[in-house]
Amino acid sequence: IFDEYTIKSLIRPVPDFPKPGIVFRDITPLYHSPRAMRMVADSLIQRYVESPVTHIGAIDARGFLLGAVLAYELNKPLVLFRKVGKLPAETLCEAYETEYGEAHLEVHKGALGEGDQVLLLDDLIATGGTFLAAASLIKQMGAEVYEAAAIIDLPDLGGSRKMQDADIPVFTLCAFE
Ligand code: IMP
Repeated sequence: IFDEYTIKSLIRPVPDFPKPGIVFRDITPLYHSPRAMRMVADSLIQRYVESPVTHIGAIDARGFLLGAVLAYELNKPLVLFRKVGKLPAETLCEAYETEYGEAHLEVHKGALGEGDQVLLLDDLIATGGTFLAAASLIKQMGAEVYEAAAIIDLPDLGGSRKMQDADIPVFTLCAFE
């Protein structure tokens, strides 16, 4: 069974990373715990196993780890949303603002199409910029975001609210105020 306390206790606050004043939520201790990772994976699998999701969209880089598990278990195609310059074939590119500055997200052209229902995965929602950029790429290909899911929400940064205002359903396993 899912135990939020266990999950949260394995997310380590690192003050002043990557710059002064920011408390980075480090999920590597969670990834280090097979029991906790099984809880995370199992709760996501359970949530989507009966859903109309057709594709798993995974965001570079920690979203890839969850994406691979979900794509395997749900037996769905995995679509990678990558930082700029990593994908070799023709791409669509979207610029966005992060807590730390401007960034770009890319996806291979034709990876998704009309009628596809994408479960979009990343480790954490901060300002929501990354998820919104991926959602915009999904829409440009004529597909839809079924839900955007992450392990952690940082609600004070307003990202999950902004995503819901943009009509993107959001699901997170825990939050740090
Ligand atoms: P956003 O675009 O501002 O929502 O930032 C979310 C993206 O930045 C995700 O891809 C996260 O992996 C990364 N990120 C931002 N802040 C943190 C943090 O405190 N811990 C771990 N990842 C973070």
